[in-house]
Amino acid sequence: MATERETPAPGSAPSGARGGGETRLGRGSRPTPTGPHLLTGANVVLPTGTVKNGRLAIEGTRITGTPPAGAQVIDVTGHWLVPGFVDLHNHGGGGASFSGSAEDVLTAVRTHRAHGTTTLVASTVTDEMDLLVRQAGLLSELAEQGEIAGIHFEGPFISPCRKGAHSEGLLRDPDPAEVRKLIDAARGRAKMVTLATELPGGIDSVRLLAEHGVIAAIGHTDAGYEQTIEAIDAGATVATHLFNAMPALNHRAPGPVAALLEDERVTVELINDGVHLHPAALELAFRHAGADRVAFITDAMDAAGTGDGRYMLGPLEVEVSEGVARLVEGGSIAGSTLTLDRAFRRAVTVDKLSVEDTVTALSANPARLLGLSDRIGSLEPGKDADLVLLDADFELKGVMRQGEWVVVPQLP
Ligand SMILES: [Zn+2]
Repeated sequence: MATERETPAPGSAPSGARGGGETRLGRGSRPTPTGPHLLTGANVVLPTGTVKNGRLAIEGTRITGTPPAGAQVIDVTGHWLVPGFVDLHNHGGGGASFSGSAEDVLTAVRTHRAHGTTTLVASTVTDEMDLLVRQAGLLSELAEQGEIAGIHFEGPFISPCRKGAHSEGLLRDPDPAEVRKLIDAARGRAKMVTLATELPGGIDSVRLLAEHGVIAAIGHTDAGYEQTIEAIDAGATVATHLFNAMPALNHRAPGPVAALLEDERVTVELINDGVHLHPAALELAFRHAGADRVAFITDAMDAAGTGDGRYMLGPLEVEVSEGVARLVEGGSIAGSTLTLDRAFRRAVTVDKLSVEDTVTALSANPARLLGLSDRIGSLEPGKDADLVLLDADFELKGVMRQGEWVVVPQLP
């Protein structure tokens, strides 16, 4: 994490202190990027529910229970204040990928931050082992600097039958020794490995990951129902983009979807972009797993936050047309161009989920999975001041990360 600025608690901050003057959005003024803030008038989404006409105080990098002296008061009446979004599964954005240079990684991080993702795990795609080891080293440094929350290795230990946008020639069975090599290369920053647990070495690899505190995620898999249960019993806790890159739900062969949805130990990732899932599939998953076991992810590739065109996903070429990314060869869907602010808006306006459930799936659940609930994932005193300001139509209007505005709120 970034270095914290410790500010001594003010002796007595009178409630409603207005030392910094009031800024009302929509009147041409804008808040300062940093400094103590008191946001007032918003629908503040807390773990216990939404507080109407609520307020939120920020001092230094944290949310605080009492308004700090000299706070700049910002009236955001009619807006929603929600926790910063946490993305467990993301390959890039802004024309750059997490398989690229440090500069590429930062470009992708900044692109998603501007869309409300204040914490993200950088996902790799299948590649040569030595390239993945090298990339793990680079990403672990950026994790140490607080730019990313860790690394998710998607592949190469996945099924050729469900390879999606991964290079078939580079796939391999999940040998625990090789899994270990990636964990070691990530120097404590490996957060998740997606693997096809039915392949030889799959269950032993799940055990190894669980022992090392790394999430074993079942995905790009051809496993049956019983095989999936065996992997969950061995310690797998996440379903990588449920429904996508796995056998469909079938009444005689319920497959991984049924096993992953019914098990309380599993959180299911969903890509809510309107392309990867039919709204009815999303509703089925949400109803069955419940809001506490869903994590909305982007699975974004380079084109997220940019536009249509040709891009690379690891070693494969991708054509993005009307926001849908497909492999040039074969036409498989190749990740998304989603950002989590769009996932939020879609969840509330199209899928008709409650704002509270959407916040749970976008912030609280992924924060819990990453073991970061003490710092992020909800708007509570003492936690990082990571927040997103949305207007009444759920359009993003502001983003704050660790007490600094990434997107300074202003209305035309
Ligand atoms: Zn992915």
